[in-house]
Amino acid sequence: MTTTTKSGQMIDPFGRMVDYLRVSVTDRCDFRCVYCMSEHMTFLPKKELLTLEELDRLCTTFIEKGVKRLRLTGGEPLVRKNIMHLIEQLSRHLKTGQLEELTLTTNGSQLSKYSGQLADLGVRRVNVSLDTLNAEKFKEITRWGSLDKVLAGIEAARQAGIHVKINAVALKGVNDTEIVDIMRWAHGDGMDLTLIETMPLGEIEEDRTDQYLPLSQLRADLEKQFTLKDIDYKTGGPARYVEVAETGGRLGLITPMTHNFCESCNRVRLTCTGTLYMCLGKDDAADLRNPLRASESNELVSQAIDEAIGRKPKGHDFVIDRATKKPAVARHMSVTGG
Ligand code: SAM
Ligand code: SF4
Repeated sequence: MTTTTKSGQMIDPFGRMVDYLRVSVTDRCDFRCVYCMSEHMTFLPKKELLTLEELDRLCTTFIEKGVKRLRLTGGEPLVRKNIMHLIEQLSRHLKTGQLEELTLTTNGSQLSKYSGQLADLGVRRVNVSLDTLNAEKFKEITRWGSLDKVLAGIEAARQAGIHVKINAVALKGVNDTEIVDIMRWAHGDGMDLTLIETMPLGEIEEDRTDQYLPLSQLRADLEKQFTLKDIDYKTGGPARYVEVAETGGRLGLITPMTHNFCESCNRVRLTCTGTLYMCLGKDDAADLRNPLRASESNELVSQAIDEAIGRKPKGHDFVIDRATKKPAVARHMSVTGG
């Protein structure tokens, strides 16, 4: 099947319009979350990375081809050197209206430093990942992080007028008993909370079958205490939302393992080396760095993007293999970005 790429729109072979790009601007991070990274990660040599100018050129090409929402992620996007320069460059597309939203997924550690600037550059929303409100547990999960610093970062973002959504990975035996507290805290401060199932991406030191907690089970538990109403709210991401009558807040559920959300997938993912992944759960990828560097015009890279969109798979099929304990996909989440 071929892509029917109309001018200014990318349509995949299954008729899905691709208008959302996630860009992992670095594979590095100031945390080492247990489900995401091993403690001793080998990161990419700096020379492998696209420069900020190249990232801007690639993102701009995607925007010209129909991307309306751009999310920077990583690794930790805010630890990439001079990241504010890239955000400033990209914000020109917000001013022209070609880009509707420029946003970030962050661990929050640098938000105290950057929130003011982010707000000035037109960033209206950020997702902050936070799996526990217990300082000791936070240290255990992130290995290197500080809860106080993240909470201060969240506050700084809110003070700057940025809407914060909290993302928490549901981890069996780690934060499952705390989900209600996290939800009350987030909703009490007017923040949405999204829960994510752990996905088998990359080798880590822990056993993933031990960490995996199906959200269907968590939802059933929550329904013993709360009234959850399915709502049609959409943020352009894969979460399905419910409204919690008792808190008045929204709870998002991202269930790549127990529910197939692929039919409405509108996104592709670009790594900091210029590799484009058409699906988080598949290994197929397209190299955009060579076509980008081969010519000063964007024609070659634009063609490579069309070919890649033409290969976007219908869906993924994650399995945590209980026999081998091997991940379904060898690359870490910090490579492709969350
Ligand atoms: N460092 C930033 C952060 O933590 O928000 C951005 C990158 S991080 C890879 C993006 C999201 O992926 C985070 O919410 C994180 O919790 C989630 N994540 C990482 N590894 C995961 C895994 N194996 N399964 C599910 N979610 C994962
Ligand atoms: Fe870093 Fe985010 Fe991965 Fe944690 S989840 S190690 S903060 S990239």
